Amino acid sequence: MVDVVVIGAGHNGLVASALLARSGLDVVVFDKLSWPGGMAGYHVLGGAEVGVGAYVVGVMPREVLDRLGVDLEVEVPDPVAVYELDGQYVKWWRNPGKRVEEFRQWGLGDEIAAFWEKLTALNRAARRYFFGGPPSEEALAEDPEAAELVKKTARDVMSQYLPEEFWPMFLYRHLWDEPAFLLAYFNPPEGWGRPVWRGERGIQALSKALYRTALESGAEVVLGVGVRKIVVERGAVKGVELDTGKLVEARAVLSTASPIHTLLELVEGIDEGVARRLRDAAATAGPYRLNVVLSEPVKLRRGLAPYRDSIFQLPMGEMLVDGDRLSVVGEPDIGRLESYVENLGKVKAFEVWTPADYQSTFNAAGAYVNHLPMAREFLFSCRPVCGWGYRTPIRGLYLGGAGTWPGGQITGVPGVNAAEAVLRDLSRRP
Ligand SMILES: Cc1cc2nc3c(=O)[nH]c(=O)nc-3n(C[C@H](O)[C@H](O)[C@H](O)COP(=O)(O)OP(=O)(O)OC[C@H]3O[C@@H](n4cnc5c(N)ncnc54)[C@H](O)[C@@H]3O)c2cc1C
Repeated sequence: MVDVVVIGAGHNGLVASALLARSGLDVVVFDKLSWPGGMAGYHVLGGAEVGVGAYVVGVMPREVLDRLGVDLEVEVPDPVAVYELDGQYVKWWRNPGKRVEEFRQWGLGDEIAAFWEKLTALNRAARRYFFGGPPSEEALAEDPEAAELVKKTARDVMSQYLPEEFWPMFLYRHLWDEPAFLLAYFNPPEGWGRPVWRGERGIQALSKALYRTALESGAEVVLGVGVRKIVVERGAVKGVELDTGKLVEARAVLSTASPIHTLLELVEGIDEGVARRLRDAAATAGPYRLNVVLSEPVKLRRGLAPYRDSIFQLPMGEMLVDGDRLSVVGEPDIGRLESYVENLGKVKAFEVWTPADYQSTFNAAGAYVNHLPMAREFLFSCRPVCGWGYRTPIRGLYLGGAGTWPGGQITGVPGVNAAEAVLRDLSRRP
């Protein structure tokens, strides 16, 4: 019998298992995949390590890494992003003064300064609620600094400052009518960048750093072995049954897999109302990812060439270049890609990940990128189910991935909060 089985070695599972193991618990992590990091993981393509899902880090609070003692840095490029608008490039510079100068070309100098001040204030207010239990919408509405996060939509805030053609720089179109919280969430003042750890640069650096931390903290991480069932007896968790048929008994099971998969496919007896809510949580159109490895460094065409470290926000999706590698997430199109990349003909290897691949690879049915939609119905104390937080009605079964507060993307916060809930409960029980 172990103390805790963690399902999933994504970044949240690795964060949670490291914290649990450091508290002296006997922890074993199982992941069906052969790589650590889940959607923030990587594999080898054409002899190079390439990311399979996430590509930049931004939402993760520094305190998550500090708490684990992980010496990982995030290298934010300057400009952070280059946004294509009507065939011209709008640069999002790190320096506020330079940014104002840039936007003056579109007659929006003062507006962008005021908009940024607002975003920073909203982000600060949102982050105050990241740790601990999820806040209710009502609690946020009563906090003068946080009220706008729930009382206004992202559209309300953006329309106060900027014409609509600039909004995609800050938020995906399908989220414009959702709470302004999402505008704050997706726009951290520090910007987005590539993780750097011990000389490695790229998303694989984050996964390797967290994997190493989990192992060094004493957690056992078993890759390539999935969980096919969470075993429950008389309303309490007994352990998990692996794909191999082996039963691993545990005092607690913390699933960082999608709540849809965990609650609909791994356990039985979930309340029909909850099951329906999860079944109905349909994904908005999911992304495709194109990974390309060239036999020489990527040559960008004029216009983009000076900014090769930046995140390119193009009509077909977001493009990232790294030496001889490039990726596009969104709706990649080879024909269009040639208009940005001079030497695409030097391709050594490429692959395409489809929305269906994401669903099947990660067991992330429905809203796979963030496990559940980032939409009002699934935010705040209603992520994943109103009033649950990180616990479930099954004693000893916890949830702690992107489908829990504060939500998806690379943050590590659900992992921290869920680990704390497990620790609190296990210290009370013999
Ligand atoms: C194409 C794409 C691009 C993205 N870009 C970004 C980005 O640039 N920046 C950003 O911050 N976020 C990005 N995201 C979102 C981000 O990657 C995820 O929200 C985040 O990584 C989720 O982390 P997690 O640990 O909660 O879950 P996951 O990473 O999904 O980890 C859960 C793990 O559980 C495992 N699992 C599932 N079922 C079982 C089972 N039955 N038994 C054993 N193991 C199981 C899965 O294999 C998986 O490894 C992107 C996602 C995608 C798909």
